[in-house]
Amino acid sequence: MTEQTLFPHVAETSLSGLAFAAVRGLLMHEAEEHDLTLSTNTEKMVRMSTEYGDLSFQDIKGGVKAVAMSKRADTLFILKESLVESISHFAPELVETLVWSDASLHQGHPPNFQFATVKSVRAIGGDFMRVVLHVEDVRNFVDSAIHFRIILPAVGDTLPEWPTVNEKGVTVWPKGDKALHRPVYTVRRADIAAKELEFDVFLHAGGRTTEWAKAAVKGSKIGLTGPGGGGIPKTNRIAVYADETAFPAVARLLEGLPRDSTGKIVVMADGGEACGYIFPEHPRLKPEWVKRNAGEGLAAQAIADQKDHADHMLWFASEKEDVAQVRAFCSGANIDTKQHYIATYWSR
Ligand SMILES: Cc1cc2nc3c(=O)[nH]c(=O)nc-3n(C[C@H](O)[C@H](O)[C@H](O)COP(=O)(O)OP(=O)(O)OC[C@H]3O[C@@H](n4cnc5c(N)ncnc54)[C@H](O)[C@@H]3O)c2cc1C
Repeated sequence: MTEQTLFPHVAETSLSGLAFAAVRGLLMHEAEEHDLTLSTNTEKMVRMSTEYGDLSFQDIKGGVKAVAMSKRADTLFILKESLVESISHFAPELVETLVWSDASLHQGHPPNFQFATVKSVRAIGGDFMRVVLHVEDVRNFVDSAIHFRIILPAVGDTLPEWPTVNEKGVTVWPKGDKALHRPVYTVRRADIAAKELEFDVFLHAGGRTTEWAKAAVKGSKIGLTGPGGGGIPKTNRIAVYADETAFPAVARLLEGLPRDSTGKIVVMADGGEACGYIFPEHPRLKPEWVKRNAGEGLAAQAIADQKDHADHMLWFASEKEDVAQVRAFCSGANIDTKQHYIATYWSR
């Protein structure tokens, strides 16, 4: 299959003034953090494969040429956005000068952005709220990627501004008082016919989404972007370790994994099962509840369990420091990145 058939949607841009060696270092770090594959990694070129397609970076005179390649137009846009997001942390001044070769194709709101209105909000257990949104088009949310970002205006802003794509093909997000809050959540259920998208919010102190969910009423308007992130792993041997923020993702795993899957599911909450989150039934995988601060901790348990589950995929999602411990263990033990999903879901 030719490259053109595999990835019919392509866009490129120049990252002027950037040193290729620095970009390469950043990509190697990103690949390690997000379990991505570098199919080419030389002193002149790096190519990274992601869920949405490939990104390649080439050393050129005066900077770096970046090319994004994807199967679909919407996933190409997501790829480009992820690149711009990384650059905004690494070299924010460069974002202002970046021009995409397909800039003329986009105008108005970004293609992966939609408005959503609240249909219902209800408590589940003491620690979670389930939100059902009306979203015009959820076709892309029933596919392999199970995460998205909710886009919340600043508290009290009754005339919010929403993101737009500028003439260079780059999304411009409102700044200052108009800055939008964009945390990642998991699609618990998407229904194309009913135009519904459902997600579960873990209620935690000081959380802006927590405050929003508690105050939300039928008709409240927000934005969302997505889908994004990983999906249900293709395996039937898995060892899962998750805290509350990843319970909705674990629920999706229990629904989506093959019925003959074996392994274990360890879920941690302050009061264990008393948190009231209900997981779907799976014939062979039953969640084992652990209480936070009551034992060795999620990371230590995942690492200790490796001796019995080395032939299972390791799926770990929790707080940043726990994630760092598990990642360091896997890297030290040379565990193939295809054999694990290790993701930071929140940080203290
Ligand atoms: C791929 C992915 C999927 C996710 N899916 C979900 C999901 O379905 N449901 C869900 O509830 N969360 C989910 N999360 C986690 C969620 O994005 C974070 O918890 C995020 O910080 C929530 O934003 P906020 O507006 O509540 O808090 P913010 O206003 O961003 O943060 C306020 C304070 O809360 C603290 N904080 C954030 N999370 C927690 C926590 N869990 N416990 C204690 N303190 C916390 C922060 O350190 C900060 O000090 C997911 C994260 C990722 C990466």
